[in-house]
Amino acid sequence: MRKPIIAGNWKMHKTLSEAVAFVNEVKNRIPSVDKVESVVCSPAPFLSQLVDVAKDSNLKIGAQNMHFEKQGAYTGETSPSMLKDLGVTYVIIGHSERREMFAETDETVNRKTKAAFAEGLIPIVCCGETLDQRENSLTNSFVGSQIENALDGLTEEQVKQLVIAYEPIWAIGTGKSSTAEDANDTCGHIRSVIAKKFSQEVSEQVRIQYGGSVKPSNINEYMNMEHIDGALVGGASLEVNSYLQLLEGV
Ligand code: 13P
Repeated sequence: MRKPIIAGNWKMHKTLSEAVAFVNEVKNRIPSVDKVESVVCSPAPFLSQLVDVAKDSNLKIGAQNMHFEKQGAYTGETSPSMLKDLGVTYVIIGHSERREMFAETDETVNRKTKAAFAEGLIPIVCCGETLDQRENSLTNSFVGSQIENALDGLTEEQVKQLVIAYEPIWAIGTGKSSTAEDANDTCGHIRSVIAKKFSQEVSEQVRIQYGGSVKPSNINEYMNMEHIDGALVGGASLEVNSYLQLLEGV
């Protein structure tokens, strides 16, 4: 059985005091880990304090990005070992905003994914097609190749542990969500790519989230789908009540 995982991606939002207040408010109200894994991925400057505030609760804290090198002359970057040292559990890798605006490629996504495992962090690996690709029936081939490249060289054990977030770019922050059936078809395709590259067993264990305009009113439709194991949520994860409703919708 794959355990559902709901992760909030706050992107570049909130002040430190707002972030701390959020975690203080939700940490004792989230459902048991047996039901759903609850994660918040905050801006890097808040991580240390949020890990501290969330300590002894079921809320896990994730980062939104990291470099693949352990250390070096990379001004402004955060290394995997720094995140591990802070007590961060998850790290989002290859979000489409980073691919589009910060020159992330399939190669950097692959290097970061391996680097995350080397430090004992769990990567949430993102993929997703543009509207143009969808309209030209290229969704499966494009997303399939993103996944093949992202996971290249990983062990079966690693792939079983990671989380994939399928986020069609045209659905991010637009209010236009994919239908649950379409999202399920693509997540099923991702599973088949993993079955071919690794094994059927691995493909059945890897957790795949849908992301793109998920909110409390539609989370349930996605969670009812065979291949969808949770959601990566932007806007609707910023407010306490909305975030808690997402967890309850699982
Ligand atoms: P929205 O939920 O705001 O559409 O953002 C989705 C996303 O990019 C999560 O990573």
